[in-house]
Amino acid sequence: MEYDDVVVGAGSAGAALAARLSEDPDRSVLLLEAGADYQAVEQTPDDLLRTWISAGPHDWGFVAKATADREIAYPRGKVTGGCSAVNGHIALRGTPEDFDEWAAWGNREWSFDKILPYYRKLENDRDAEGDFHGASGPIWIERPRRETWQPINKAFYDACREIGYAEAWDHNEPRATGVGPWPRNRRDGVRISTAIGYLHPARHRLNLTIRSFCNVHRVIVEGGRAVGVAVECGGAAQTVRARRVTLSAGAINSPAILMRSGIGPRAELEALGVRCVVDSPGVGANLIDHVLAPVVAIPAPGVPHDPQVTNPVGIRYTASGSNEFNDMQMYALNFFDKSLWIGSELDLPVPSIALAPGLQRPRARGRVSLRSADPNVPAAIDLNYLGDAEDLRRMADGVRLAWRIMNSKRFAPYLKEFVNINAETVASDAAVADFVRANCGTIYHPVGTAKMGPESDPMAVVDQYCRVRGVEGLRVADASVMPNIVRANTNLTCIMIGERVADWMRAQA
Ligand SMILES: Cc1cc2nc3c(=O)[nH]c(=O)nc-3n(C[C@H](O)[C@H](O)[C@H](O)COP(=O)(O)OP(=O)(O)OC[C@H]3O[C@@H](n4cnc5c(N)ncnc54)[C@H](O)[C@@H]3O)c2cc1C
Repeated sequence: MEYDDVVVGAGSAGAALAARLSEDPDRSVLLLEAGADYQAVEQTPDDLLRTWISAGPHDWGFVAKATADREIAYPRGKVTGGCSAVNGHIALRGTPEDFDEWAAWGNREWSFDKILPYYRKLENDRDAEGDFHGASGPIWIERPRRETWQPINKAFYDACREIGYAEAWDHNEPRATGVGPWPRNRRDGVRISTAIGYLHPARHRLNLTIRSFCNVHRVIVEGGRAVGVAVECGGAAQTVRARRVTLSAGAINSPAILMRSGIGPRAELEALGVRCVVDSPGVGANLIDHVLAPVVAIPAPGVPHDPQVTNPVGIRYTASGSNEFNDMQMYALNFFDKSLWIGSELDLPVPSIALAPGLQRPRARGRVSLRSADPNVPAAIDLNYLGDAEDLRRMADGVRLAWRIMNSKRFAPYLKEFVNINAETVASDAAVADFVRANCGTIYHPVGTAKMGPESDPMAVVDQYCRVRGVEGLRVADASVMPNIVRANTNLTCIMIGERVADWMRAQA
């Protein structure tokens, strides 16, 4: 049989896309997911529901090169819901500047005024109302009440206010900057993934087929048109035909599937024995991620550190000496362990707490490339963190701000001692830069590896409607298409991309 649409990957964007496409009962939609699928909340394992983040049982197990001399584990969700099912459920939007930059780079359909309706459509914000918010979307959003914050979160908030940062009660208000509660896609203690928000209410539809444990190897291209996918399911290699194929396999696997399908940098493909169908040098390039560097301390005896309320409050701010609005974030983690700092070589004392500055406007670019044409060999991921001097400078500035807050009269009483830093480190430019290099880790936000752009940009892989250049009937809709990273955690923006692309695809026959 032939489907109208095959969507590869049931993550943040793919689940939203498949659910919206299948609202049209005359359209047959097949959603293929490499990981497991849990059909109801009651059947879903607890690591996908009530954890802060979950980087264990439902993970691809990637390893990435963080800097020239450090490798880190690089979690990606492998389950329906994708990373939205394992993530830290901070529900933050990019700023108007982010999207107006995409538009200025030749993607006019992505200006802030054009994408705002889709941010609104996806959310059911229980606290904030008005022109910027939605109240009937699939993703429940609420903010942790101050009375639920732990003492160090309150101390963090008070110290930031005393330093002069504004109150940001609604971090998703377009001009918001400063300190306030993180909006969260969590309801009654349960993470609202796209599997729960989008797929569960759509499962009864006869025109939507969701198949788990289906690992898509490549897109089948015939006569310049995508006609289906080659997929391994239950140990058997199979093909599925479709009128249109959309890759929503995330910023690591979507470019990998493109390259295995012969769409990518010609020399790289041919060196691996893959016949080049479209020479597209941008596939896998332009990898961008947010980097963080936690300043870790042991709390004073008796200070609560409840993992269920980790990180309820944070700050979006502009680095000193920077002219880029909100180019930094900082988390106040009253419970800090290895699961939150993947790739660190440090033995963390128990209990530990941390303030973690994170760069939101990195200038360095990394790369995803194939090591082999074999679909079972994971792609090589080179993050190139701190590969730009300004990235390192702003991160060093963030570490010093964390140190200042932790030594403030509000915060200091909650600390026993620092774990990975001291006053001499903070005083020296060279030492603080070394600290950042040695302690940096991921905020888990890779984007940009099949970026959108106008025809004049040779590195653009898709056009602004997310159609792959050079192949009819093939799209990418996920984090890969962002031309630059948003200055916010990326989940809501990926869901928004799924919503936006669904509208265009539904408007087509
Ligand atoms: C540990 C962690 C914590 C995070 N915390 C936050 C947070 O607090 N807030 C926030 O906003 N963002 C957070 N993020 C980032 C955010 O969740 C991601 O940016 C977003 O979910 C990516 O969406 P996507 O649609 O691009 O890809 P994904 O959600 O990764 O979806 C891709 C899907 O495709 C499937 N797939 C991949 N390859 C194949 C294949 N070959 N065949 C079939 N299926 C395939 C995958 O299994 C997956 O289900 C976090 C991410 C992680 C990993």
